[in-house]
Amino acid sequence: MGSKEDYEGLVSEILSCTRCPLYSSRTRAVPGEGPLNASIMFVGEAPGRSEDLEGRPFVGSAGKLLDSLLSSIGVERGGVYITNVVKCRPPGNREPFDSEVRACNPYLRRQISMIKPKIIVALGRIAGRTLYEMAGLRWDSIRAARGRVERVRVEGVDLMLTVTFHPAAALYNPGLREELENDFKNVIAPLVRGFKTVRKTTLEEFFK
Ligand code: SF4
Repeated sequence: MGSKEDYEGLVSEILSCTRCPLYSSRTRAVPGEGPLNASIMFVGEAPGRSEDLEGRPFVGSAGKLLDSLLSSIGVERGGVYITNVVKCRPPGNREPFDSEVRACNPYLRRQISMIKPKIIVALGRIAGRTLYEMAGLRWDSIRAARGRVERVRVEGVDLMLTVTFHPAAALYNPGLREELENDFKNVIAPLVRGFKTVRKTTLEEFFK
């Protein structure tokens, strides 16, 4: 885990960042939030309107769906770290351009290197593609990646990477929502349970 000072330095860099044109239309940059020793990290695409106003990730209607998905598998939102591939809102909620993703990528790299999550869940195509590329994996499509769990190393951190749909895409598409709920139930929940079991065994062995 990185130090609190290092993390606060990173947050303040993001809040005043002008590395890509998105700085000029944002209200607030949205660095991310969650415990610095979180085992699970969720990475979305970019802040939307509510997030841009509040400066916090996943606080609009997609955020409410994420909260209910987390609670459906017994995970508290306050126990996970949540961020986005780009930290400032693209105008009109368009997809971020590749140049913007590239400009912002060092921040996500530093977050992973500081937090050292054991599991990363990429939400949506942009997050999935970005994390696959960071892990040196070949990206084909979200349909091909969805439901798979890859053991990868990102920024020197060994972790499990999985990709599912973005909650915003599932809000008005019942079919997609069902698939997203199934991914939480059948892929993400077992991953989280597996990780807890590994941790428990390790601790028990430690105290033998
Ligand atoms: S999106 Fe990222 S790189 Fe662009 S201005 Fe915001 S923080 Fe900086």
